[in-house]
Amino acid sequence: MTTNDMAFPDGDRALCVKMRASRGGEHVSGAERIVRERDVPRVLSALAARALGHSKGRPDFINLKVEEPGGMIRLKALPVSTVETHTAEEGRARAAEILAAAGISRAREVMELFKASYSMRGAMLVDADTLERLEPDRERGVRATRMDAAESLCGGADCAKNHFAEAVVLATKVANAPGIVGEVCVSDDPDYVTGYVATKEAGYRRITVMKEAGDPCGGRIFLYRGPREGVAETVRFLERQSVLVDCSAVAPAAPRPPSVADELKEIAAAGLSRECRALCSATGPVASVDCADGTRRELVVMASNDYLDLARDPRVTEAAAEAVRRWGAGSGGSRLTTGTQPPHLALERHLAAFKGTEAAVLYATGYMANVGVITALAKKGDVIFSDALNHASIIDGCRLSGADVCIYRHADLDDLAARLASVRGARRRIAVSDGVFSMDGDVLDLPRFLEVCRAAGAVSIVDEAHATGVVGATGRGLAEHFGCAHPDITVGTLSKALGSEGGFACATHETARYLVNRSRPFIFSTAPGAAAVAAADAALSVLEAEPWRVERLRENVRFLAGSLAKLGFKAAADSAIVPVVIGDERRAVEAARALETRGFLVSAIRYPTVAKDSARLRLAVMSAHTREQLAAVCAALKDVV
Ligand SMILES: *Cc1c(COP(=O)(O)O)cnc(C)c1O
Repeated sequence: MTTNDMAFPDGDRALCVKMRASRGGEHVSGAERIVRERDVPRVLSALAARALGHSKGRPDFINLKVEEPGGMIRLKALPVSTVETHTAEEGRARAAEILAAAGISRAREVMELFKASYSMRGAMLVDADTLERLEPDRERGVRATRMDAAESLCGGADCAKNHFAEAVVLATKVANAPGIVGEVCVSDDPDYVTGYVATKEAGYRRITVMKEAGDPCGGRIFLYRGPREGVAETVRFLERQSVLVDCSAVAPAAPRPPSVADELKEIAAAGLSRECRALCSATGPVASVDCADGTRRELVVMASNDYLDLARDPRVTEAAAEAVRRWGAGSGGSRLTTGTQPPHLALERHLAAFKGTEAAVLYATGYMANVGVITALAKKGDVIFSDALNHASIIDGCRLSGADVCIYRHADLDDLAARLASVRGARRRIAVSDGVFSMDGDVLDLPRFLEVCRAAGAVSIVDEAHATGVVGATGRGLAEHFGCAHPDITVGTLSKALGSEGGFACATHETARYLVNRSRPFIFSTAPGAAAVAAADAALSVLEAEPWRVERLRENVRFLAGSLAKLGFKAAADSAIVPVVIGDERRAVEAARALETRGFLVSAIRYPTVAKDSARLRLAVMSAHTREQLAAVCAALKDVV
């Protein structure tokens, strides 16, 4: 400790500046600085601004005070370290541990007392051993004042709230007060959940979460050990002694960022590690695969979305090749600039005709179609009602929109109706559902969905990614299957049964025009290349000319589901997706591995794609699978699961 009255080498005077703000007598905020005389006006104005803008509300009384600091001592800041915690409860438990390690045997009781300090303006002064209250005025508590970081004196006088720096300065002063053996503190700023425990030995232990977010209460306890006669001197030191704290050695406040390597280890430990692996031939019912054992083998593919075997159909691939030669490899622009080519317009007309809607809008992928449609229609103030098992692209669209999202129980349209009825005052209400649920393969009850939406005046959106080319007598989707009307918007993909890539939305002319004007993925992303577009167009023509593919696919699904049922598996046959639920993540992966050894490529679907502990083998059926292949995979499943 060194004492000097003049803080500055150039002889400039130091002054204490204090701000206290309150409303209706309740403390709102406070701060104090020790600054050069010439900086006083600027600091006063900055502190007033800070008081007026405090997140606890606007004060009706602001007290600004300038005082002589008197004799001043300099202290070195306590060493700082961070204790990562995730909940308030965990934070308080860690605080108690640190106090206990510092020789405060009743640390848990101290933390109980701590809650009582929340209602006080100053700190509680407590005997570290008897837990007796020692502060002369119990209402007011003890206030540690007259301190600042030495740097701010010599350097800039910015008054931005820096909780961390201010706390280190205060904690350093308190830890150096005569008789003080420890301190516990949580800020009263509702947005600041980090607290600390400080002792001279342990230093300043920053505890990242020590209270619930939004909680406007904070508190402080000073722990004292010594004779009662010493208390007065301790209080004088805390309240009257001017202190400058040298913070130059204090580590920056930022906690260590989580390392990517650590997170990868966590993913692996949970059995959730994923990797891309190459399929070394065109997608089809059989493909050449680089297997886990290092060999490249022909496997029966039970994992492809190319349900109708159109991706390698010569009519489709020729259309793509011709389009590439004629229109180039890329479109060269977004749809509203230079990216629209005749193939785009032709496919939009074709899709609308196929689905039986007035118009269609193309997107680069089905993912983008969902994000584009949902964000175009929904914004802050709207409410989206979304099935609990909707596809990730729907979830992401909902999140990105800024609307409130109300999740209803999977496929429970009574729950949807009840939730629609319970929400009032929304600008627009939108209900969105997968048509065929991508991980369970079940089909939405579209007529009932539309009825519920109509009754509530809600916009209806249905994603037919797995329905197009699969559901309905000729693969036209749910409206064909149920013989009912269309939702307001039907979303789909070109990348599954249509064997190409891209996404689309089918709707009225008016809605399509709206999407073109409002859908950011449509507006701000390059138009898909003509090859993919022409391929999808050709695939659509094949599908129309050969509805037997849809029928063959359905027969295959029935056969597979029937065979699985005979083996005791629960298997539905509503779409091309037949899940076999295993549960445990690692077991599902092991089963997929074992199937690979037996010659079958089957996906193990895990969290986060499906809920934790509902990992599954997801069998995807193609029209081109033979009965022998399907029977063989059933036999292998029986061995493996
Ligand atoms: C696959 C899928 C999508 C995304 O389509 P992509 O064209 O692959 O981006 C959207 N919704 C559902 C339900 C899907 O299964």
